[in-house]
Amino acid sequence: MDKKTEKQTLLHKDEKYLWHAMKKYNPDGTIIAKSADGVWITDIEENKYLDGQSGLWCVNVGYGRDALAEAASKQLKEMPFYPLTQSHIPGIRLSEKLNEWLGDDYVIFYSNSGSEANETAFKIARQYYQQTGQPNRYKFISRYRSYHGSSFATLAAGGQNQRAYKYEPLAPGFVHVGPPDCYRSAYPSDNGQCCMQAAEEFDKTITWEISETVAGVIMEPIITGGGILVPHDNYMKRVREICDKHGVLLISDEVINGFGRTGKPFGFMHYDVKPDIITMAKGLTSGYMPLAATAVKREIYEAFTSTDTYDHFRHVNTFGGSPAACAVAIRNLEIMEEEELVKNSEELGKWLFDELQALRENPHVGDIRGGKGLLAGIELVKDKHTKEPAEELAGSVVKYCLEKGVIVGKTSDTVAGYNNIITMSPPLSITKEELQILITTLKRCLSLPEFC
Ligand code: PMP
Repeated sequence: MDKKTEKQTLLHKDEKYLWHAMKKYNPDGTIIAKSADGVWITDIEENKYLDGQSGLWCVNVGYGRDALAEAASKQLKEMPFYPLTQSHIPGIRLSEKLNEWLGDDYVIFYSNSGSEANETAFKIARQYYQQTGQPNRYKFISRYRSYHGSSFATLAAGGQNQRAYKYEPLAPGFVHVGPPDCYRSAYPSDNGQCCMQAAEEFDKTITWEISETVAGVIMEPIITGGGILVPHDNYMKRVREICDKHGVLLISDEVINGFGRTGKPFGFMHYDVKPDIITMAKGLTSGYMPLAATAVKREIYEAFTSTDTYDHFRHVNTFGGSPAACAVAIRNLEIMEEEELVKNSEELGKWLFDELQALRENPHVGDIRGGKGLLAGIELVKDKHTKEPAEELAGSVVKYCLEKGVIVGKTSDTVAGYNNIITMSPPLSITKEELQILITTLKRCLSLPEFC
């Protein structure tokens, strides 16, 4: 069968049997990927694409890592499964390694996805307060435009209501404040003032909700899927102070921010804060295995263990922390250390951000955000004064780049009116030359008459 016929046959079966995530059926826009190496994806017609999205923000060490396949294979042969109601060696070793990466004393609970890691965090926070004398603390505060997962509680935590409204009622007890969106704030020229204003919303909202009812604040240090919102350096620190003032736990969602994406091991490390709970997934295994984790400060963990009056955590996850997934995660983190990929992300991220600045001259480029790691966003508008989002234009940019063999992302239509933001998050192993291809393609696209 020739390649074209093979593709048609597969597309036909794809349409018949496969329900795609977050996508209307569109055979023209479907890549049927066959193999991948480094930052390059090859489809069944042998077309090559530079993956500027790391899959779904997750393939941090890049594709084609034999060492990860070998780590999985070795562990699968040795012992494919054993639950963490008991223990196993890869689980213990990975937990120790994560403590090194976190630079502090955390106890790790494993699951399989970012959603589960966040659900676990919410349950731990509620039970923690139940057994430390503050049983009324059950609410969580998060931000509009954020994303924290697809389950009922994590959808309720997320601030992208177009994702949620068809599934209501969601889990109760989630309250939202505005994001630090300085491009669209009343103080656009003063990033510091805008972000401090946004941080103070937490203080007001926790007070209005009655602080004795609030268990936690959940936030990504840098909002990613909601449009790459990089806050002022003092923002998260102020949120931490507000949490402390009200006795509220700070949960850092590092599902995307973690493992070098922002140019530091974890996103919170930019902001001189220590979260109480840290959730992670994606880059933990670079997507080679499903694995997620909820890291909890020892003081919180001890409220579940240290005296006979405290109850244990009534939560189990069959596949969470499976031996092969942990073995892959350990090897994945070793590769990041050996190849200094966090540093590469920091350095190339700065360069990418500088290179993108030239695009500010384009009449449709309203804002360019990034500078912290291999993570960048370009907000496209119809008019720079009205800032009306240019959603169709953003879609055309993604399409153009794909035709030229470069995959960039776009905020989805769930981000309350702002699906006009081009997003970039290539593998942290990308070279400068490869990144140049991505930049050149974007620049060429935005210099075409229809984009000017
Ligand atoms: N938190 C954040 C910040 C995410 O971006 C995502 C997924 N994109 C999740 C949580 C949920 O992760 P998962 O899809 O693995 O459940």
